[in-house]
Amino acid sequence: KEEFMMQSEKLTMAGQLAAGIAHEIRNPLTSINGFMKLMRSSDRSSEAYFDIMESELKRIELIVNELLVLSKPQSKHKSQAVDILPVIDQVVTLMDVQATLKNIEILCDKPDSPVQIVGEVNQLKQVFINLLKNGMDAMASSGSIHVMITTNEHEVLISVKDEGSGMTAEQIQQLGQPFYTTKETGTGLGYMITQNIIHNHGGSIQIDSVPDRGTTFTVKLPKLVSVEASSN
Ligand code: ADP
Repeated sequence: KEEFMMQSEKLTMAGQLAAGIAHEIRNPLTSINGFMKLMRSSDRSSEAYFDIMESELKRIELIVNELLVLSKPQSKHKSQAVDILPVIDQVVTLMDVQATLKNIEILCDKPDSPVQIVGEVNQLKQVFINLLKNGMDAMASSGSIHVMITTNEHEVLISVKDEGSGMTAEQIQQLGQPFYTTKETGTGLGYMITQNIIHNHGGSIQIDSVPDRGTTFTVKLPKLVSVEASSN
């Protein structure tokens, strides 16, 4: 009986992993698809589209490579000093195409001076891709998503505010449980992955949501204070 339990647990793990992989790869695929549609419908085929499509394909390649690394023991993600503002900019540019197709505008408020944190760029990108995508999914049609970046002495705060369906207290409680989804094609893994990444970066995430009004997710991450910066 014990062996049976172990085998079924392994199966569940494999299933969870497979769903996670599908989720991580679907976002860049959706983006590439969006650009192809855009290029087909207009007769513009700008270099910039190719650049973004290429970087999305690289993302998929990277995820697949990471999975290969995962299959080997004792692999670690590389943490390094990261300028967070350009990372957020890149994610917004990426998501803007899907947003425009839905008549949603993404507004971004950020500080003038650079902000550094310690982390892994692709994981951080995944967090903000997930949050922006969920915000867009929650909005029936036109509206805006507001990304606001502020800092205090020790932290950077990044909030993503949508004008979508919002969530009830019960829905908020279920959010982040594996496979909890209200979407036909959802996996219910996105927020769990988001939480995981933020916690691995020593940060936290807060939810403020009002049904029928919208939701604000606020991510807090510890700032990297460099020696040069503090002596200025
Ligand atoms: P998925 O997007 O695959 O459903 P998530 O874990 O990212 O998985 O989200 C789980 C559920 O939480 C969503 O199906 C949705 O019901 C709810 N949710 C997440 N983000 C938002 C949001 N910004 N506004 C309203 N509901 C949300």
